[in-house]
Amino acid sequence: MAVKINLDDCMQCMACISTCGQGALTEGDKGPVVDAKKCTDCGDCIEICPANCIKK
Ligand code: SF4
Ligand code: SF4
Repeated sequence: MAVKINLDDCMQCMACISTCGQGALTEGDKGPVVDAKKCTDCGDCIEICPANCIKK
């Protein structure tokens, strides 16, 4: 599994990218992109997201 990011609510702060220890998040044209093969569902990005737009 992998987290899902609601880019409509994303503020493009990119805090999630630097928080992900798995390197599963990268910066795309419209916001962070999740690599489902790398995401371990640890939830760290969910906790740090100020927009609360990342869900499991
Ligand atoms: S932490 Fe949340 S608001 Fe910031 S870039 Fe990531 S998904 Fe968007
Ligand atoms: S749940 Fe964990 S592994 Fe998956 S994208 Fe967020 S911080 Fe990275």
